[in-house]
Amino acid sequence: MPTGVQGPVAPAPAQRRTFLPFAPPVIGQEEIEEVVDTLKSAWITTGPKTRAFEREFAAFVGAPGALALNSCTAGLHTALATLGIRPGDEVITTPMTFCASVNVIEHVGARPVLVDVEPDTLNIDPQRIAAAVTPRTRAILAVHYAGHPADLDGIEALARTHRLTVVEDAAHAIPARYKGRCIGSGTNPVAFSFYATKNLTTAEGGMLTGDAAFLERARVLSLHGMSRDAWKRYDQGGSWRYEVLLPGFKYNMTDIQAAIGLWQLRKQDAFQRRRREVVARYTAMFAGEEALEPPVARPDVEPAWHLYVLRLRRQALRIGRDRFIEELAARNIGTSVHFIPIHLHPYYRDKYGYAADAFPVAYQNYRRLLSLPLHPGLSDRDVSDVIAAVLDVARTHRR
Ligand SMILES: *Cc1c(COP(=O)(O)O)cnc(C)c1O
Repeated sequence: MPTGVQGPVAPAPAQRRTFLPFAPPVIGQEEIEEVVDTLKSAWITTGPKTRAFEREFAAFVGAPGALALNSCTAGLHTALATLGIRPGDEVITTPMTFCASVNVIEHVGARPVLVDVEPDTLNIDPQRIAAAVTPRTRAILAVHYAGHPADLDGIEALARTHRLTVVEDAAHAIPARYKGRCIGSGTNPVAFSFYATKNLTTAEGGMLTGDAAFLERARVLSLHGMSRDAWKRYDQGGSWRYEVLLPGFKYNMTDIQAAIGLWQLRKQDAFQRRRREVVARYTAMFAGEEALEPPVARPDVEPAWHLYVLRLRRQALRIGRDRFIEELAARNIGTSVHFIPIHLHPYYRDKYGYAADAFPVAYQNYRRLLSLPLHPGLSDRDVSDVIAAVLDVARTHRR
């Protein structure tokens, strides 16, 4: 600084003072009061608030029905078990997902068959599904990566031809639309996640949607295989009698979780508006930068924008993705990577003998992508800080 000059010192470029976390939950006073109300009531586990949350969630996505559970993983597992998928069966899915989507296939004893993804959306590629179908294939488990719907028309056409069920992992897809239709509004089993980092959170939680007959069986299986809900047993006029029809799971949601979910649901439209604003600002600022490739949205969808996945054009940079992340952390910007492809994890790599480039689109994109902070709690200043830091790293290390 020149001596004798008065006034504020110019801030250091692209450097914020405090760390910006990647995806903190956005919880308001309404959620807090509803949780306290539940704790002061006579009912804290699955009860009236869970039922209200199911009703409001089903109405929100236009689903025929909804079953609240304690995670999306529970929803996917319950769906596969309800469909009767078992040892000897195969389920086709994507390597570009969280391990839960594939672990549940192992949980029912079936074989996960991975197929590569489409280069623009990183969603499962229907062209490649056709080649992976065998007489043992029972289902296609599609994941709406980052909240961008998978090509459901292509997937469902194949499913009809080969008489397969389509199960959707919609952990990222609240609320997303495919050709005008909300994800979860059809008759496919669809599992949503309310994990702490997701668009709608209950700390831990999930929702399964689908047609009424499927959900009725799923509901029994998700609570010990019991013929009636526990909470009804203890209600006035309820009976102590129940029967175990199947050795089911313990996957029910609590009213404490549902209390959070009810308010998170009512805030989704506002949350989504803010996500879109942030995405628009990021993309406007990154689109002209040679080293940066912003995410795309196909014209026939409305993504839920769970993640802002930025891809690096490595020929335009002297550093790789890992160093890019370290440089952003040094500038106080938290990021993440979605996902380490399934076939790189030791369990799947070793069990099925996958080479790293077995799914080249997933693998090559994994090596050049990172997720930037994207949540409704970001201030305009936070967004400017992220943009400044990303541009600073890209320009400093330009090739
Ligand atoms: C978070 C996530 C899940 C698991 O959700 P839980 O509610 O934590 O079980 C499943 N699939 C994908 C793609 C996810 O991101």
